[in-house]
Amino acid sequence: MREPVVIATWPFGRLAAETALQLLRAGQPALDAALTGAQAVEDDPNVRSVGYAGLPNAIGVVQLDACVMDGRTLRCGAVAGVENVRHPAALARRVMEKTPHVLLVGAGAQQFALREGFPLENLLTPESLQEWENRRARERPPTPGGGQPPEAGDHDTVTVLALDQRGDLGGVCTTSGLAHKLPGRVGDSPIIGAGLYVDNSAGAAGGTGVGEEIIRVAGSFLIVEAMRAGRSPQEACEAAVRRVNAAAVRRGVHPARVAFIALDPQGRTGAACTARTGFQYAVGRGDKVELVTAREVEAQAGN
Ligand code: ASP
Repeated sequence: MREPVVIATWPFGRLAAETALQLLRAGQPALDAALTGAQAVEDDPNVRSVGYAGLPNAIGVVQLDACVMDGRTLRCGAVAGVENVRHPAALARRVMEKTPHVLLVGAGAQQFALREGFPLENLLTPESLQEWENRRARERPPTPGGGQPPEAGDHDTVTVLALDQRGDLGGVCTTSGLAHKLPGRVGDSPIIGAGLYVDNSAGAAGGTGVGEEIIRVAGSFLIVEAMRAGRSPQEACEAAVRRVNAAAVRRGVHPARVAFIALDPQGRTGAACTARTGFQYAVGRGDKVELVTAREVEAQAGN
């Protein structure tokens, strides 16, 4: 029997890790544990970038992205730009289980939620509306790519990776994405291979931070394939951050805030982030969950 392990992004991931660890220790499958952990964060109104009370887009609407992946079968499901559904990760799991598809978006994802019995709710709280108004008041001119460059506090995702007692890996990723994003903008979080990838035969990886940069390098798939090739989770995460840095250097921009976490089939964990991301993550094993500060990888010529 394997010792269960869970790893989750950001200090608010502690809630996800604690919830998931209890279930893993009780013998629950990795995906169930990761999903219940992620859902606890979706429900927490104090976490302003995930689920209920998530960050609204440019027109004040909360649009959520999520995905799930089962490392034993490579089955996966995702939803993107879904409105009024508090638990997009659970909806992503229904896409995996009840449809032949992987990804449903927007109105179609919401219709599917209704069909599956998910209630439609207002996810905008008075606090998130107030923040949206404050941000509008300090809007700066758009960058050449359009829109505002993301700032710390403008985004964050809970990504949860779990290893269960049978040695199976499962992962979940859920977010409201970037604050004030263009309506319809989709980040890395519901994109299998970008925000999440899980394969029992190599490992699990997930991302957080500016999703465009993670999609550009297929970040989570890159990490899992590096583990398959023999790198440790730590080495694989650092290599992926170097790739993010190199992609920024090639475009002549500073690397955005990006962080990765990884977990291998032996239960080893790793994490790394771009410079000045200040990324912390929660690791649960045994009966303890600890917060760990990730190594920052500076951009350099030749990265
Ligand atoms: N990766 C998310 C997105 O781009 C945001 C975050 O994790 O900070 O939508």
